[in-house]
Amino acid sequence: MSHDKKDCSEVIHQILVFIDNELDQASCGEIQQHLDECGPCLKEYNLERTVKALVARSCPEQAPQELREKVLLRIREVHVSLYGSAGPEVGGHLDSPSAP
Ligand SMILES: [Zn+2]
Repeated sequence: MSHDKKDCSEVIHQILVFIDNELDQASCGEIQQHLDECGPCLKEYNLERTVKALVARSCPEQAPQELREKVLLRIREVHVSLYGSAGPEVGGHLDSPSAP
């Protein structure tokens, strides 16, 4: 049985380690080769790398898990700025201060 090709799920798991540069040289080569041949994994890799780059730019010295939360927060902020702060909650005539 030929088992020289990596499993996609395994590759995607290793991509996170790979991006953090915590993978040994041999594994790096395997991942890179797989990314060359596998579109979905390459897509996942690009996505993770984009997130990583975004995080690295804003706060390079935090723990990975905190970074992830910051990125999610950042994404939410971007989402808000894209769709405007004037959401459906603005037209609240119910709790407007009725000053006499
Ligand atoms: Zn794959």
